[in-house]
Amino acid sequence: MTTNVRYKSRLVKSVDGEDQEKQYVGFATLPNQVHRKSVKKGFDFTLMVAGESGLGKSTLVNSLFLTDLYKDRKLLNAEERINQTVEIIKHTVDIEEKGVKLKLTIVDTPGFGDAVNNAECWKPITDYIDQQFEQYFRDESGLNRKNIQDNRVHCCLYFIPPFGHGLRPVDVEFMKALHEKVNVVPLISKADCLTPSEVKKLKDRVREEIDKFGIKIYQFPDCDSDEDEEFKQQDKELKESTPFAVIGSNTVVEAKGQRVRGRLYPWGIVEVENQSHCDFVKLRNMLIRTHMHDLKDVTCDVHYENYRAQCIQQMTSKLTQDSRIESPIPILPLPTPDAETEKLIKMKDQELKRMQEMLQKMQQQMHEQEQ
Ligand code: GDP
Repeated sequence: MTTNVRYKSRLVKSVDGEDQEKQYVGFATLPNQVHRKSVKKGFDFTLMVAGESGLGKSTLVNSLFLTDLYKDRKLLNAEERINQTVEIIKHTVDIEEKGVKLKLTIVDTPGFGDAVNNAECWKPITDYIDQQFEQYFRDESGLNRKNIQDNRVHCCLYFIPPFGHGLRPVDVEFMKALHEKVNVVPLISKADCLTPSEVKKLKDRVREEIDKFGIKIYQFPDCDSDEDEEFKQQDKELKESTPFAVIGSNTVVEAKGQRVRGRLYPWGIVEVENQSHCDFVKLRNMLIRTHMHDLKDVTCDVHYENYRAQCIQQMTSKLTQDSRIESPIPILPLPTPDAETEKLIKMKDQELKRMQEMLQKMQQQMHEQEQ
């Protein structure tokens, strides 16, 4: 059987300079197709902010996304904060820029580190992250996988106060409790309280302590060797800037004849978007322009995969213990199993079997690696 396909031809030069006739199939349009589909669907991103109250979290979020997410916030007084527990508050905004829609979810953690006794104050936060993984795991293992809502936390901005000499025990404990569940990006807040040399000293100290305590913060991916020099330089600067020293402001002031987001002091103006004043622009570029996709990929491929592997392992060990299948999704007993129900049960069984096979493969791989 012959298929009549008309290929568009074009002339290309081979490596040694000879002209060659190359057939053009059309898959070069694939990126455009993906682009169109993604734009149509829109993007989503979930950002968590954590750190004691008053460190400038809400101001920074408003500055980053030019929104006012905290209009109705109730501020607690000192007495109310003595026994304050960590609350998780979600704010969602739909932002549109040049036709591209972004559903941004900010997960705020008011109360973190505010109480007199802060033992395990990160627990509600780690529980929240796990719950989102659990929900995703259930949805993914369910029958209707088409419209899964992804509420997994893609990045956690952790605010370190500018006043200390490095990390406090609560900072170390918090980051260690979260680093295997979410991409932690540490920030030095209110950097306008420090001189440039103090910022450098604090950054060096924080970096040293992150290494010393084995905290795994989000690692920027390596820059490809074929990238241009300007990109490589930007990438190097970005890596050297962590932890980002940031300044936030909800007000626009006039500086050198221009209206800029900044903080007005009797001795001058601190500009949020001035790169010689702070790392705000670097952080915003990283989060929005250059690394949003990588943050989502790492969440999915590393953090969620860890959670999933643990779940499957637990399920299988339970299975071998009492040979009773317990599905991650509660299957309610139906009074009279009809054909449809039996079909569903069969599908579930097959799914569990697939998971078991996957686990076995993983165990085998681990075994091979050990050898
Ligand atoms: P949150 O409780 O962590 O959300 O902190 P807020 O954003 O409500 O900020 C608490 C106070 O710090 C407010 O008075 C802000 O104006 C101020 N603030 C916020 N960001 C900065 C900053 O970068 N530098 C300085 N000096 N003050 C800031």
